[in-house]
Amino acid sequence: MAEPHKSLVTVDTLILGAGAAGLMCAMQAAQRGKSTLVLDHAKQAGKKILISGGGRCNFTNLHTSPENFLSENPHFCKSALSRYTQWDFLELVNKHGIPWHEKTLGQLFCDDSAKDIVQMLLRECKSAGAKVQLRTEILSVDYDHGYRVRTSEGDFEAKSLVIATGGLSMPKLGATPLGYQIAEQFGHRIVPVRAGLVPFTLHDHDKAAYEELPGVATEVIAENQRTAFKEAMLFTHRGLSGPAMLQISSYWFPGESLEVNLLPHLDVSDLLKTARQETPKATVASCLAKHLPKRLVQALQTQSETRGVPWQHKALGDISNVEIEKISKYLHSWSVKPNGTEGYRTAEVTLGGVDVNQVSSKTMESQLQPGLYFIGEVLDVTGWLGGYNFQWAWSSGWVAGQSV
Ligand SMILES: Cc1cc2nc3c(=O)[nH]c(=O)nc-3n(C[C@H](O)[C@H](O)[C@H](O)COP(=O)(O)OP(=O)(O)OC[C@H]3O[C@@H](n4cnc5c(N)ncnc54)[C@H](O)[C@@H]3O)c2cc1C
Repeated sequence: MAEPHKSLVTVDTLILGAGAAGLMCAMQAAQRGKSTLVLDHAKQAGKKILISGGGRCNFTNLHTSPENFLSENPHFCKSALSRYTQWDFLELVNKHGIPWHEKTLGQLFCDDSAKDIVQMLLRECKSAGAKVQLRTEILSVDYDHGYRVRTSEGDFEAKSLVIATGGLSMPKLGATPLGYQIAEQFGHRIVPVRAGLVPFTLHDHDKAAYEELPGVATEVIAENQRTAFKEAMLFTHRGLSGPAMLQISSYWFPGESLEVNLLPHLDVSDLLKTARQETPKATVASCLAKHLPKRLVQALQTQSETRGVPWQHKALGDISNVEIEKISKYLHSWSVKPNGTEGYRTAEVTLGGVDVNQVSSKTMESQLQPGLYFIGEVLDVTGWLGGYNFQWAWSSGWVAGQSV
């Protein structure tokens, strides 16, 4: 019996992944006159964009610089970030009349909806002539003087193949390891991957100690031997979250402790000594509750005994300078040892990925395999929380789009 006819489509540039990086690359390549097709297995393009930033997409950060990224080679991101900057992306957003605002720390969000960003990218692709084909399973990739990609919807041939399949975070949204598998197939090394920008889970004894605290948030400095972040920390049912914890999770390895300054704006020692003079009958807890959430003060007070800093029900007038210094140290360097993270299920990003030392920082083209490109999160480049990861997707997608 004859084999059923399979369609074969030939284009200049084939892009796998209709996410942030893939769509940016597609519109650039098509604007340069390349016939361009984006394939994705999802039903919708830009799914992560749509849910990002609580539905408002934190699409870039005004202060983007190479220091905001983690990679085995921290210099790699410099070229792309300087060739397509946050200001370039903002110009595109403004060209489409999308209303936006700055929240904090240079983070730019849509006023209305993340849909505006996806529609903008799709409109740019369409007007440049780039096509986006969804619901297409990638079955295999081969190279013989060009790339041939077999899919559930037929075969595709292209001179340039761009891998924009993202990382492993949120498998529910369609994340798969396809990009890493293709990279390995062509001899690329993968820097070990792990979840980043992810909430911490706590050991049972800590969870029990802080069981009354889910929903409590406070401004802290979260610190380890590698870095420090001054942002909010949030107690959850499973452990610790909030921007400070998400940020430091990217710099954390299993088994390590974190130091948290619970009162970064105050000198607790000065505070308690002054209060002791002015209101000696008041308790330590009531004094601290003016500066920290009350439920947190209660939990810390209960814990203070096991940490060797008992202040239970003590009046300020009854505590010595030595005790004040102990309480101060306890609150300025509250130590917590997570038992892990929530993993890819809730992580915003994947750390590690395609080793950037085998990829051109100017074009994102493989140095091992001509015509093969890697862009966005699949590469070993990971941004901080705050719009940096999308900026990396835009910048890396843009430079590849100039070269394919
Ligand atoms: C909940 C959440 C919120 C976030 N919020 C922000 C934010 O506000 N600001 C910010 O800067 N970053 C944010 N991020 C991170 C940001 O979304 C990513 O870094 C960015 O989307 C990466 O772009 P990308 O194009 O490389 O990958 P993606 O956007 O993940 O796109 C990859 C595409 O490849 C497709 N794909 C994957 N595997 C296959 C396969 N086997 N076959 C076919 N197609 C495949 C996927 O369907 C997807 O469309 C957030 C992430 C999450 C999970």
